[in-house]
Amino acid sequence: MEHCLFCKILEGKISSEKVYEEKNIYAFCDIHPAAPYHVLIVPKKHIPSISEITDVDQSILGNLFTVAQKIAAQEKFSDYRLVINNGKNAGQTVFHLHVHLLAGRSLTWPPG
Ligand code: 5GP
Ligand code: ZN
Repeated sequence: MEHCLFCKILEGKISSEKVYEEKNIYAFCDIHPAAPYHVLIVPKKHIPSISEITDVDQSILGNLFTVAQKIAAQEKFSDYRLVINNGKNAGQTVFHLHVHLLAGRSLTWPPG
């Protein structure tokens, strides 16, 4: 996708601090961390948001979460938060599906 920020990161046109990569998934540090540890986990396939997923994307969705678990284990975080903002009013600013992995501090609830 030509105008998608995360597609540009995936293509290497915009630099990113890589944390993890596998066949269908890429993870990198958030440029404005909201916690001491804040990583974004994205599918390499351009899917704008959770609202746009279809049955063929189910394995990708599974991969997003197993990758989150792997990264957290690798970093030795037992407690962490996974967030998916879906839609503008829910805080989504980049319309390429991503899971936020936040850790390294106490996280309050509700998030606001
Ligand atoms: P959203 O608000 O869509 O759930 O999350 C988008 C995230 O992307 C935000 O946390 C924001 O800080 C991050 N972000 C925006 N632009 C860039 C960028 O150019 N590089 C990186 N690494 N993260 C970005
Ligand atoms: Zn994209």
